[in-house]
Amino acid sequence: MDCIFCKIVEGSVPSKKVFENEHVVAFHDIQPAAPVHILIIPKKHIASMNDVQQEDWHLLGEVHRAAQHIAAELGIAESGYRLVNNCGKDSGQIVFHIHYHLLGGKPLGPLLAGA
Ligand code: AMP
Ligand code: ZN
Repeated sequence: MDCIFCKIVEGSVPSKKVFENEHVVAFHDIQPAAPVHILIIPKKHIASMNDVQQEDWHLLGEVHRAAQHIAAELGIAESGYRLVNNCGKDSGQIVFHIHYHLLGGKPLGPLLAGA
């Protein structure tokens, strides 16, 4: 399977990792949209939110647990942050390995400005 994020999990594509455990990897986005822009992914390949199965829901809990930890480590827990998942065409999802963007480090503006 030709998945860039699976390759990051394996280590065959380099990334600037900030967190890793049994279930989850987190690394800096290559095109940061905010001073802090981390991508948090389950190690298991799941293409999108549409493909999450019953046995996978705990992995999304692990993603949230990692987000809480990373936000504290990177000093944005108090200032605040946004955790974003894009699913499918209208959201602009371009990488089909489920991921959450952790964004912060500045006021992010209204979420629905462009809606
Ligand atoms: P999206 O699928 O639109 O939710 O976003 C995919 C994100 O992955 C974009 O913000 C890209 O900048 C980021 N991205 C793509 N390839 C890499 C990579 N090799 N390392 C880090 N971030 C990446
Ligand atoms: Zn993958």
